[in-house]
Amino acid sequence: MATILSAQSTDVNVNRVTPELFRKYPTVADFAALTPEQLEPDVRSTGFFRNKSKSVVGAAKKIVGEFGGQVPDDMEKLLTLPGVARKTANVVLGSWFHKADGVVVDTHVTRISRRLELTKNADAPKIEQDLMKIIPLEKWILFAHQLIWHGRKLCFARRPKCVDCALENICHAGDKTWTTVEVHKNAKL
Ligand code: SF4
Repeated sequence: MATILSAQSTDVNVNRVTPELFRKYPTVADFAALTPEQLEPDVRSTGFFRNKSKSVVGAAKKIVGEFGGQVPDDMEKLLTLPGVARKTANVVLGSWFHKADGVVVDTHVTRISRRLELTKNADAPKIEQDLMKIIPLEKWILFAHQLIWHGRKLCFARRPKCVDCALENICHAGDKTWTTVEVHKNAKL
């Protein structure tokens, strides 16, 4: 539920909402018993709350009705849930089930993969395919966590802190703020 809510939002925002949300609705059956309209006030602050309410309630109904009340640990089945595309499915599979079926591609992974020239693509499905070819499978889960952390701490979209970055000497990003190596003007956000 939290991963569905995190679309187009920040983790801080989602984490503000979820403690009360899960206190109010502690089981998937509780969510499945709601109408989207009933959920809307609880998730309003995460943005796009009408669509998210529909997705959360729809996913809960499907989990209860078709998957025996258990979130499936299978990519194909996860992708049948409303509000779940590959990124959400990869987060759930990797972080909860410890299964590497793909690589999480969010805004941080996209930006940093492009800056580090691990991909030239701009859309998530193609970036994921590029990363799956060059990152060893056993590192897929950790790799995405590392890039997301790096993006939050240093490699910001605007004014990355290149002077503090351990990857600086292998990064040729065209939008670096400080460099000791030649930059490649197309390697950027
Ligand atoms: S050197 Fe700068 S742009 Fe490159 S990865 Fe580090 S923080 Fe990001």
